[in-house]
Amino acid sequence: MTTVYLNGEFVALEEARVPVMDRGFLFGDGVYEVIPVYGRQPFRLRQHLARLQSSLDGIRLANPHSAVEWENLIGQIIERAEWRDQGVYLQITRGPGPRDHAFPKTVQPTVFILPMPLGSPSSEAIENGVSAMTATDNRWLRCDLKVTSLLPNVLLRQLSIDADCAETVLIRDGQLIEGSASSVFIVLDGILLAPPESNLMLPGITYDVVLELAASEGMRHEIRPIPETELRRAEEVWITSSTREVIAVTRLDGQVVGSGRPGPVFRQMYACYQTFKRTVMRGNTAP
Ligand code: PMP
Repeated sequence: MTTVYLNGEFVALEEARVPVMDRGFLFGDGVYEVIPVYGRQPFRLRQHLARLQSSLDGIRLANPHSAVEWENLIGQIIERAEWRDQGVYLQITRGPGPRDHAFPKTVQPTVFILPMPLGSPSSEAIENGVSAMTATDNRWLRCDLKVTSLLPNVLLRQLSIDADCAETVLIRDGQLIEGSASSVFIVLDGILLAPPESNLMLPGITYDVVLELAASEGMRHEIRPIPETELRRAEEVWITSSTREVIAVTRLDGQVVGSGRPGPVFRQMYACYQTFKRTVMRGNTAP
């Protein structure tokens, strides 16, 4: 049985109910986070809670809990879940109210926390890489907020499902932005390149981990705008996210990327990432 948290109570998932007038349901008026958990230890929790705060600020919704309260609630969900490795999904909506775009006069936010099995990438995907396709980014101009109104991301992601690809890589005005549910890196002339954070992309927690590891490993890297033309001639393309960690894209729009195999820079980063995760789980460093 999966236990979830809903508005002050721990209940069985099957029993959890929200009113149909919840603004999350009516307008997608809410924010969310997905926190990876390894060996029942949340990874980068502080950073996920900081991003949650930015998303809440961005939609003008007061945070219903302090960081300590969040840690406590998330800790309880992790302990009650059947999986040692898991993804903790948490969502806050502006709660129930009349069907009116205007914020309700009194806001009773809906707080929901759901543990999920961690859909880590298969060893096949790590070994051989995955296929991806590109599409024009047609989302709004606040992609830095992690909001539950995900219809554009859903439609963009479905394009790649239909094409048997693992991700849709988004291009806006001739520049690489990110994936429909991931950050994207490329390796060009041996240098790891990351697009700069802006209102057009989500500040990925894994993106930060990858850049920190690149710095600590002395890997050559730059944060700068990446034109689509560079994406197309990259030696390596990677997607990163909390659930997929780091995966190499070995085919893009049906074209082979680099050698067609996960490249040497990817292999180095993948190994670093795994070591870093293990160190954090042993409690040897701040997560
Ligand atoms: N961009 C988008 C649009 C995403 O949905 C995600 C997944 N949350 C990411 C980037 C990667 O973010 P993170 O590394 O924090 O999971």
